[in-house]
Amino acid sequence: MRSPSLETFREQARAWLTESGLPRAGTDDGVPVWGSGSDDVSVFHNLSFEAERALLDRLREWQRTKYEAGYGALTWPEEFGGRALAPEFEDVFAAEERAFDAGGAHELLSVTLHLIAPTIRLLGTDEQRQRFIRSFLSGRELACQLFSEPGAGSDLASLGTRAVRDGGDWVISGQKVWTSGAQFAQWGQLIARTDPDVPKHQGMTAFLVPMESPGIEIRPLRQMSGGTSFNEVFLDQVRVPDSLRLGEVGHGWKVALTTLGFERGASSSTTGVGGSWRQAVGLAAFTGADRDPVLRQQLADVVIAHKLGEIAHARDEQARRQGHPLGAVGSVRKMQWVRRMLGISDFVAAALGPRLVVDSGEWGTFAWSQHVLGVPGYRIAGGSDEIQRNIIAERMLGLPAEPRTDRTTPWRDCRR
Ligand SMILES: Cc1cc2nc3c(=O)[nH]c(=O)nc-3n(C[C@H](O)[C@H](O)[C@H](O)COP(=O)(O)OP(=O)(O)OC[C@H]3O[C@@H](n4cnc5c(N)ncnc54)[C@H](O)[C@@H]3O)c2cc1C
Repeated sequence: MRSPSLETFREQARAWLTESGLPRAGTDDGVPVWGSGSDDVSVFHNLSFEAERALLDRLREWQRTKYEAGYGALTWPEEFGGRALAPEFEDVFAAEERAFDAGGAHELLSVTLHLIAPTIRLLGTDEQRQRFIRSFLSGRELACQLFSEPGAGSDLASLGTRAVRDGGDWVISGQKVWTSGAQFAQWGQLIARTDPDVPKHQGMTAFLVPMESPGIEIRPLRQMSGGTSFNEVFLDQVRVPDSLRLGEVGHGWKVALTTLGFERGASSSTTGVGGSWRQAVGLAAFTGADRDPVLRQQLADVVIAHKLGEIAHARDEQARRQGHPLGAVGSVRKMQWVRRMLGISDFVAAALGPRLVVDSGEWGTFAWSQHVLGVPGYRIAGGSDEIQRNIIAERMLGLPAEPRTDRTTPWRDCRR
């Protein structure tokens, strides 16, 4: 099928969204109207288990509606229900969708759609592609990322969850941590150690694990912004058939890097989590910060950073289309994305003063505490600031590499 022009596509998407029955998010150009609709600008949800599940159900339903109408997997090939369009069509659709209140976002849906589904497409068997991809892209089933462990975060390759072959199955035992959305996921993409006698990067294997399996215990962790986005996941003799192994035995590091590559790519886009610069502008008008000589400068910096982010994103997309992968620039983009969100935090803290920390019931003010308390988590998620700086130092600036003594030592003999 020939792709439509971007403008034709924009008109079609706008018409479809208008007919979809979603409420509008603000004025025609997407500027929120002060005092109307939800004032939620949270980065992580601060909801009860039931309320968070209800939110996820609504978002899954919206994803299913989009997928069935041909807007849910625009860049995917037709065999997976997509339209094989270029990434800029996704940007156009996202911009049009922002004019409507689609119910928010949830990290588990993003992990499923943008990290795990593409990993299975690249590295899964035909059977796995048929089993999982449509189900994930339509939001019917969701998958979490079972990578980090108490002793393995930045240095993920030192992980110690063990998977041992037993006939046609693998038996997995160990502990994962910081698993976003595990309590709502049907599946988990897990990296385990299958050979402790080879150097750490070589002895890992990836699996797709049903989260309902006997032997899995999920314990939510409460974070400072209130909600329980993360979980500890304990695995005690969890049995998984070999047909759910993702990639070759011993190639788990390649699978992990593939998924993490999609994670870094996702943060190069301009859409943030939490409150947007437009909402910050709305707040400035309400509080009078836009008439304060110092605060209006700070607000201008927020807007400039966002515009520069859009330009950088357009350049990255152009480079990608010309066959130049993002590489270490992805680390720069991840840090810029987090800084833009931190810039919004600084501005709203200055503009709101005590109203940021005291809940008077006023619309759109105390709600910002959820943005301010949540953003720092993204300095760590997807590779911490320090790790991004190491990547930039080594791969872009050509500075000496960190000393790595455990490249050739068997994992069993490494200090942990
Ligand atoms: C919001 C959020 C969501 C997450 N979701 C998931 C998820 O769904 N699934 C999952 O598996 N994990 C998830 N994580 C975990 C995340 O991947 C880890 O927190 C991250 O990799 C850092 O690991 P760590 O917490 O063990 O810290 P550590 O690796 O122990 O680091 C501690 C500190 O030391 C610094 N440091 C470590 N090594 C170096 C070095 N070589 N050079 C310089 N400084 C260094 C770090 O920057 C950090 O400041 C999530 C984390 C957050 C915050």
